[in-house]
Amino acid sequence: MVCNIAIDGPAGAGKSTIAKLVAKELAFIYVDTGAMYRAIALHLLKKGVRKDDQEEIARECQNACISIAYKDGEQQVFLNGENVTPYLRTEEVGNMASVSSANPKVREWLLNLQRELAGQNSVVMDGRDIGTTILPHADVKIYLTASVETRARRRFLELKEKGAPCDIDEIEKDIRERDERDMNRQVSPLRQAEDAVLVDSSQLDIPEVVKLILQIYEEKMSK
Ligand code: C5P
Repeated sequence: MVCNIAIDGPAGAGKSTIAKLVAKELAFIYVDTGAMYRAIALHLLKKGVRKDDQEEIARECQNACISIAYKDGEQQVFLNGENVTPYLRTEEVGNMASVSSANPKVREWLLNLQRELAGQNSVVMDGRDIGTTILPHADVKIYLTASVETRARRRFLELKEKGAPCDIDEIEKDIRERDERDMNRQVSPLRQAEDAVLVDSSQLDIPEVVKLILQIYEEKMSK
């Protein structure tokens, strides 16, 4: 029997860091669905598709064959056979992903891949609609969030550490815009599933959040 843990929440809440650590503790596979949306966005950017051309996004996404594999425990995303993992975490790709992921055809395109992975493996899957749409029967559902200010500060420190030029006000503005788009789109908007446990990490560090989620998991599984 496989076990599925869904972790949803807004941009910059620390989902990928936390989900990866929880997966490691439980020896589950970590599935980063944001990276799949980013790979489609990369394809659209490469093809020169405009952000406001929803018809072209719907058409062109079907030429993006996405698959994933694991190397040293790290998820690798393949776009039409090419490993594009190193190119996914730029602001340009993230911004395109935030727009193109609102397109129903893009979401439909990735739905089966995500469900198949969770059907065949015990996973910790993070995203925006995992608990509400992709895995409505997940064994454990977490809605991980933090204040906009905390999320902006974390992203700022992360970029600064990488030596990337960044401005905290710009980052905060960007996060607010992404929240607005993710929470108000027509298809699969970001929201807390009724049976998800809310975890606000604003005042918690990484080990504390991981510990809390493992406790929630233990409690659910012992019932
Ligand atoms: O989580 P990450 O920032 O990598 O996601 C990139 C974009 O993909 C998000 O801004 C969000 O709009 C979209 N996304 C989504 N559904 C998911 C995962 C990500 O709509 N399950």
